[in-house]
Amino acid sequence: MKNTSRDNAVKLQTKEQFKAEIARWAAIMKVKPVQIRVQRMTKKWASCSSKGRVSFSADLLQEPRAFQKYAIVHELLHLQVPNHGKLFKSLMNAYLPGWEAILEERNGSATRSL
Ligand SMILES: [Zn+2]
Repeated sequence: MKNTSRDNAVKLQTKEQFKAEIARWAAIMKVKPVQIRVQRMTKKWASCSSKGRVSFSADLLQEPRAFQKYAIVHELLHLQVPNHGKLFKSLMNAYLPGWEAILEERNGSATRSL
């Protein structure tokens, strides 16, 4: 479902630009992923290995910027907090206030895990 709000406008973006955005967030969050990959993934939006490799679905390139941001912050946060507990949620609030609304607006996100 397409959202019409300005912040959610879908802009064309290359894989390299998306990776640069991920690296920018990693610096902000002071996490150091061993490797950042953007690849074909159909069951998940993103995943992270115990060794610190983060992978993002190339499908995110077609998603609204707000949801991309949510996916990036969510996955990078797993380098600090491996689960979705209380600490995870409070850090999400610190890095990306309003993330719950982003998730709610992106109705289909529930079909894939992060
Ligand atoms: Zn997660």
